[in-house]
Amino acid sequence: MRQDWQVRTIYLDYNATTPLDDAVKAAMMPFLGEVYGNPSSVHHVGQRARAALDDARERVASVLDCKPSEIVFSSGATESCNHAIVAGALSRMDNGQHIVTSSIEHEASLHPCEYLAKKHGFEVSKVAPNEEGLVSSESIIDAIKPDTVLVSLMAANNEVGTIQPVAEIGEFCANNGILFHTDAVQVLGKLPFSGISQFGADLVSVCAHKIHGPKGAGLLFVRSPLQLPPILHGGSHENDRRPGTENLCAIIGLTEAIERFVRVPVFATPNMPALYTRLLESVISIDGVTFRGSRDNRLPNTVSFTVANTDSIALLSALDMEGICASSGSACSSGSVTPSHVITAMGAPPEEANSLIRLSLGRESSPSDIDAISNILPHIIDRVRHVDKS
Ligand code: PLP
Repeated sequence: MRQDWQVRTIYLDYNATTPLDDAVKAAMMPFLGEVYGNPSSVHHVGQRARAALDDARERVASVLDCKPSEIVFSSGATESCNHAIVAGALSRMDNGQHIVTSSIEHEASLHPCEYLAKKHGFEVSKVAPNEEGLVSSESIIDAIKPDTVLVSLMAANNEVGTIQPVAEIGEFCANNGILFHTDAVQVLGKLPFSGISQFGADLVSVCAHKIHGPKGAGLLFVRSPLQLPPILHGGSHENDRRPGTENLCAIIGLTEAIERFVRVPVFATPNMPALYTRLLESVISIDGVTFRGSRDNRLPNTVSFTVANTDSIALLSALDMEGICASSGSACSSGSVTPSHVITAMGAPPEEANSLIRLSLGRESSPSDIDAISNILPHIIDRVRHVDKS
């Protein structure tokens, strides 16, 4: 395994996760120590924790511009998406059993939809994007039927960074009595934020670790007066919506990250546009590389591409040997490559869909990171390109 002293680490995988911010960490520390009470306990030790929990909910609500009661703290976006989709659809089952989503959602949304289809007989329409990864509002609205009870569409795609027209879709759903959920994980901290209502959604999934908060912390916004039943069963925490003793340390980290990095997006650093442009230009100048995504309607930090006659595992391993952390949309487990469902849905030929590379910049990215990847990438691609021996 590579040792830290051998090569400098160049982290270009901020869409996967971000390092914990020092101030966020400092705010969390007391909750790993002296503030250890259970917020449900009636004694003063518990009540100290309860006060911190109530305060956190109010602080988050103030940034998101919603009511504290509209926030359900969770273990992250996967849980929030599951809660929104499963509980949302099951609670409307008497009205119909049709769900509309897109074929480029994160597994955190796709798999709950598939679960509802398999176990509860729902019909799921997965709308395809165009070749830039855009799921148009017309295509979503066209897929809606009289028995549609839920629409779920991510606010921006994690693999290629394309932004989706969620506010328009939310408005249509609101006017037609259909629940609308959006997974806003990749948007918060990256794009301007004016309040949770900008998504036009009844249900919004958020997590902390994409904005320099801790892993395993998130929330689901549930627009009042909607009552969402729990998907876990136990105590009456989170107003009967999510049982289990609250992970106060994680909630404080989430709160601190939301306060610090959402209204003033943490990814909107002064040099981000220039770094993005240089990275994009150097990548697309390489022979055999095809840019995947949208040039205009995109997150500020994400450059994704496929490389003819290569595969993601070979490319990612070679990059890692040089200290560069990148990612692919593929499940690169146990040495096998599964083509990215996102790139496939965007129309990439099958032989290229397993060669997706995503470079995602962040707060700590620097011009020297771009220099390093620009210098090394052409050589790596050259080295791992499959040689046609015929
Ligand atoms: N949704 C999107 C778009 C993501 O990028 C991720 C994380 O990779 C998730 C959901 C899952 O979030 P979490 O890790 O908080 O469960």
